[in-house]
Amino acid sequence: MFADVEPDTLLVNPAEVASKVTERTKAIISVDYAGQPCDYNALRNIAERHDLILVADACHSIGAQFNGKNVGTLADLSVFSFHPVKHITTGEGGMVVTGETKFAEKMRRFRNHGITSDHHQRRSQGSWFYEMVDLGYNYRITDFQCALGKSQLDKLPGWIKRRQEIAWYYDEAFAEIPAIEPLGVKPDVYHAYHLYVCQIDPTSLQIDRDDIFKELYAKGIGVNVHYIPVHLHPFYRNCFATKPGLCVASEAAYERLISLPMFPEMTEQDINAVIFSFKKILLK
Ligand SMILES: *Cc1c(COP(=O)(O)O)cnc(C)c1O
Repeated sequence: MFADVEPDTLLVNPAEVASKVTERTKAIISVDYAGQPCDYNALRNIAERHDLILVADACHSIGAQFNGKNVGTLADLSVFSFHPVKHITTGEGGMVVTGETKFAEKMRRFRNHGITSDHHQRRSQGSWFYEMVDLGYNYRITDFQCALGKSQLDKLPGWIKRRQEIAWYYDEAFAEIPAIEPLGVKPDVYHAYHLYVCQIDPTSLQIDRDDIFKELYAKGIGVNVHYIPVHLHPFYRNCFATKPGLCVASEAAYERLISLPMFPEMTEQDINAVIFSFKKILLK
């Protein structure tokens, strides 16, 4: 079941979530879109009221905070991706964090063929004994990848600060332009800015989004559209009979979204060049 987003932040709307809970609902999965944590007070309330597991997709929000609390502590399970496009990378791979032993044990078995102990544990206990108790797979991350991830982790706080600075420059530049509407940011969040996303208002422009995209691309400015609403992908349409009209706020936003370049190595010159070209193409 899909719940619609809030039109300004594009984070899941808790009222929508509450209205879609049924007898069969087992979990709420929320996406911290663009790097801003969802409203975990509201989501936690709904989860507790209906005895659901709350899973945070925190792939965009590593290093962010909500009400002074770190992402990773806000849900029962929080998932992170270390794919190369994310804040920090291990080449491929990811991480799930939880405060609950029962989930941690289950996930450790799941990544290790459903086996009750790994070879480190067996050696430290001086034992050869293990059993396969669940169906599991080999989802183990390698030590090489972890070495890369640990060195990246040290750089994360500085990188997030830089991303916030870049966002500030963009916000300032677009504040006076009604046709460009950066995503809403709530006052009680520390934003990780995986993405800098604007909604552009086609009714007030002479140019449509595809042409804006093409012109910026031609200038070597790597804009993007994040994302096609999940329920509109063929797999979901085919398997779950989802269709347009199911989540109208996300569908309306999708028509208007454009993500501007956002990476810590951007220089002031880079930022100004993006702002200059974006304004020029939009307002001509
Ligand atoms: C990247 C990403 C994923 C998938 O991560 P993988 O490492 O490819 O599994 C899931 N959700 C969000 C929001 C992401 O950005």
